[in-house]
Amino acid sequence: MDIAFRPQRSASIEVRDLQVSLGGNPVLRGVDLRIEAGRMVALIGPNGSGKTTLLRCLLGLQQPHRGSIRLLGEGPPGPRLLRRVGYVPQRLQLDPSFMLTVREFLAIRRPGTAGWFWRPSRFVDDQLHEAVAEMDVTRLLDRPVAGLSGGQLQRVLICSSLLNEPELLLLDEPTAGVDTPGEEDFYGLIADVHRRRGLTVVLVSHDLSMVYRHASRVYALNGVICCEGSPDEVMNAESLKRAYGIHFTPYHHHHHHTHGGHGP
Ligand code: ADP
Repeated sequence: MDIAFRPQRSASIEVRDLQVSLGGNPVLRGVDLRIEAGRMVALIGPNGSGKTTLLRCLLGLQQPHRGSIRLLGEGPPGPRLLRRVGYVPQRLQLDPSFMLTVREFLAIRRPGTAGWFWRPSRFVDDQLHEAVAEMDVTRLLDRPVAGLSGGQLQRVLICSSLLNEPELLLLDEPTAGVDTPGEEDFYGLIADVHRRRGLTVVLVSHDLSMVYRHASRVYALNGVICCEGSPDEVMNAESLKRAYGIHFTPYHHHHHHTHGGHGP
C-alpha cells in the first residue's frame, strides 16, 4: 500500500490535553496544540478564553493539573529552555521614577554584559546594534524608558527580548498601546524579524483582525482549541462562531478598536 508521507517540521510548542482550573473553574479544558518551528502564528480568543493562563503554562509560571508541554522539541518549560524563549507582556506598568534610558535598559538585559555602564555608549551601541536596528529604536536610545509611548515601549521590549536570540517569541497582545495607524508598521517590523531570523513567533490576541495578515496559521482558543487553520479558514469557520457566540467579531477591515472590549 502506498501511503503518502509528508515529513513534519519539528514543533516549537507541543501541548497535549492541558487542563488548568483556577478558583474551582476549569479554564483550560484539554488544550491540544502543535506549533511548527519557524512559523509566525496567531493564538486568538475573546477575553476570558484562557490565553493568559496558557501563556503562563508555557512560561512555566502555572502548573497544569493535567497534560504535557514540550518546548523547542525538548521538554517542559524550565529555566534552561526558557532562556531560548522570548516573552513580551502586553503591558508593563513603569513607575515614572524608573530612570533608565533605553540604552541602559537594553544593556542590562543583554546576557553577559556586566560592567557595561562604565563603557562608552558607542561600545554599547555596537553590541546592541542588530536588534536596535531591527526594531527601529535607534532614535530612542537616549530617551528615558518611562517616558515612551505605548508603541515605542512595545518596540523596546521586543528589541530587548531579541538580545537573547530567542528561538521562540511569545507576544501577548502585541499592539496593545499602539495607535491604529502604527499597527501595520509594527507588524511589518515583527514580520521582518521573523523572516530574517527564522524564529517561531506566536502572536496572542483577542482579535483576529489585528493578526490575520501576518499569521500563516491561526489557533482559536476557548478553553480548548476550538478551531485551527489558515486565517481565512478560521475567520469563516462555523465552529468559531458557535464557540465565541455573537459577541466575538473576529474580522473588520477598517476598525478603530479599543482594547479590553470586543462586544457589538
Ligand atoms: P484571557 O487571557 O483569554 O482573557 P485568562 O487566562 O486571563 O483569559 O482567564 C481565563 C478565565 O480564568 C477567566 O474566566 C478568568 O476570570 C479566570 N481566572 C483567571 N485567573 C483566575 C484566578 N486566579 N482565579 C480564578 N479564576 C481566574
